[in-house]
Amino acid sequence: MATINANFLKLKAGYLFPEIGRRVKAYTEANPDKAARIIRCGIGDVTEALPPAIVKAMHEGVDELAHRETFHGYGPEQGYEFLRQAIVDNQFADLGISADEVFISDGSKCDTGNILDIFGKGNTIAITDPVYPVYVDTNVMAGNTGDADAKGAYEGLLYLPCNAENGFVADVPTEKADLIYLCFPNNPTGSVATRAQLEAWVAYAKANDAIILFDAAYEAFIQDPEIPHSIFEIEGAKDCCIEFRSFSKNGGFTGVRCAYVVIPKTVTGKTETGERIPLHQLWSRRHSTKFNGASYPVQKAAAAVFSEEGKAQVNELIEHYMGNAKLLIEAATAAGLQVFGGKNAPYVWVGCPKGLSSWDMFDKMLQEAQVVITPGSGFGSAGEGYFRISAFNSRANVEEVCNRLKALIA
Ligand SMILES: *Cc1c(COP(=O)(O)O)cnc(C)c1O
Repeated sequence: MATINANFLKLKAGYLFPEIGRRVKAYTEANPDKAARIIRCGIGDVTEALPPAIVKAMHEGVDELAHRETFHGYGPEQGYEFLRQAIVDNQFADLGISADEVFISDGSKCDTGNILDIFGKGNTIAITDPVYPVYVDTNVMAGNTGDADAKGAYEGLLYLPCNAENGFVADVPTEKADLIYLCFPNNPTGSVATRAQLEAWVAYAKANDAIILFDAAYEAFIQDPEIPHSIFEIEGAKDCCIEFRSFSKNGGFTGVRCAYVVIPKTVTGKTETGERIPLHQLWSRRHSTKFNGASYPVQKAAAAVFSEEGKAQVNELIEHYMGNAKLLIEAATAAGLQVFGGKNAPYVWVGCPKGLSSWDMFDKMLQEAQVVITPGSGFGSAGEGYFRISAFNSRANVEEVCNRLKALIA
């Protein structure tokens, strides 16, 4: 008999997005006349077409594969040098990161989940609340937690509450953690960490011999020049941090799939006997054993994000989405709601009207305004009383959402 990984049975059944889908389906079945009016601002997926420079590069990549003379088979598992070097030149030029410290993959969701392969058992895992659910669920699958309680909090995880008081940026805890997940700009709250806040986190990691897993999937949306884009802008981070980046949200690659992990060779973890081993060495082995590289046309397309044309077109996309975020902030504020985020991130995080829970507000927005938002409690119990509006949409849809929100709350 084949036994199973029983940790999977600890996972909560009602995952956030399926539940949203279920409620939207039930509503449209009961109200077919309203189906066409529904505007989705729920799932964090981009909506606009790929920039032309990126499409052109992908086409060229496909054409190369179409001829024997220019054909490519398996590429390097770590990713093509042309892409790793373009990443370093454009994003880490002054930070002392080298191209062989960059690992190309097919997504940050996979990377942030797979990274647990290289860590041992018994680590204390610190996770912000609310949080991107992938960090939690992959730790449950890996056996790093006990069971969930009635509120959905897993035994054994160190939850770092984020709230209006701390501006949705977790304070360093008094407890000792070994692995810390940070995501800035943040999904779902849209908050960003200042340099001083990141310095405090790096100091904490060094003092506790901990590793920070820094998810910078939304760094391209930072508008404030004072806000760091990379954890490696912080002194000492190259001893204790791993950074995850993705082309999903800046280049619109959610359906194309390309991302990367940066692991400086100076970051180490310990064996049970106290010997220090570079995490780079372990990830390199893991990556080349379990992954065979992102596809060639996709890596060509990703490199085009850094061409002159590509940069200008990606900036236009970011400006479009951030223009949406600005309108959403204005509308939610005008409706008298408490608003966070949206200034350096494509997510606006809004306090529910008095007396409404996150799911109450979800139902109200769906039934009375036909707008799909994401209930904050779906990202953790500290998200209760809030909802997330995504700025990933057309301008016309966002303007309509703004009008409906104001009418709904007025
Ligand atoms: C969208 C997103 C990513 C990117 O995931 P991909 O798998 O690269 O598409 C990573 N982290 C967070 C928090 C995200 O919201």
